Amino acid sequence: MSETLSRRSFLGAVAAASTLAPAASPVSFHVPPLRRAQHPVAVSSRNGLKSVEIAVQKMKDGLPPVDAAVLGVEPVENDPEDTSVGYGGLPNADGEVELDSCVMDGRSGLAGAVAALKNIKNPAQVALKVMRRTDHVLLVAEGALRFARMHGFVEENLLTEKARKEWVEWRERLSKEDDWVDPQENGPMGKEYVRQTGTIHVGCVDQNGDVGGCTTTSGLAFKVPGRVGDSPLIGCGNYVDNDFGVAGSTGRGEAVILCNGAHRVVRYMADGRTPTDACLDALKDLVRFTKVKRLLRADGKPDFQVNFYAVNKRGEIGGAALYPSKHARCDEDGPRVVDSAALFG
Ligand code: ASP
Repeated sequence: MSETLSRRSFLGAVAAASTLAPAASPVSFHVPPLRRAQHPVAVSSRNGLKSVEIAVQKMKDGLPPVDAAVLGVEPVENDPEDTSVGYGGLPNADGEVELDSCVMDGRSGLAGAVAALKNIKNPAQVALKVMRRTDHVLLVAEGALRFARMHGFVEENLLTEKARKEWVEWRERLSKEDDWVDPQENGPMGKEYVRQTGTIHVGCVDQNGDVGGCTTTSGLAFKVPGRVGDSPLIGCGNYVDNDFGVAGSTGRGEAVILCNGAHRVVRYMADGRTPTDACLDALKDLVRFTKVKRLLRADGKPDFQVNFYAVNKRGEIGGAALYPSKHARCDEDGPRVVDSAALFG
């Protein structure tokens, strides 16, 4: 390519040439695509009961599944009471809220994501803009914030009083050796602080069998600043293949990243497993990858929770977790919360 030929004009020339050239033989897949869904359906983490209902309604209204998923998660991102997502999410170890999100669209095969984004309460909408308004997939931290500003997103303080107080409590109970004192440590008993997890994933399949998904989170509470979890990583916290379906995850992000969880679930569906079996088999792989002692309980099982959620192109919904858990779903029978399959009882 000539050095003076810009990337855009090169791509334009390639596109023009390809319209003149004889059609290339279609790429063949070893697994035939599934038949399409008859009715729009959505699956979500347990905190998404309203989200799946909204997402299905938006697909009925004609919106693409990825847009339906993003609109589905919006009320949860805006909800100060949900301390695992968006506004009111628990902050990092320095007390700053850093949000992660990604979206993926089956029809175009494109995705967008933001990680460690501060001050913008709807990272899923920023991720959608990354997908539609850039040639990139993932923007992080300051660059993601500048991009959001450029597109008119309004900055605000995302740290609610409730989340700030939880952060202070965590900080004060972190160690008995440091100089931060939790008032309860001066009393008769200082309780152990349990670190909360949470996120929302919404996976959608519409009446045309098109597929989309979104995951959005404030990530692991009190994480090391700059830490990125599975949620904004395509193939980890969210993955879509328009021929087969969508999958997503919540729970310990590091474990999901290490097994490329959502992609693995979709591949298992492509191999013919039901959505729930695909989630269970991906969890078995995740357990196989979990080897270090600090991550294992005394009985040798993982010392953390992971949930997978999946919908195949036919509109069949599934969910499974390492330990008993639930997920939200919406199909022709309406929105409801149901038990997920559990790998360990
Ligand atoms: N998966 C999220 C993360 O690791 C947290 C969670 O879902 O609890 O950032």
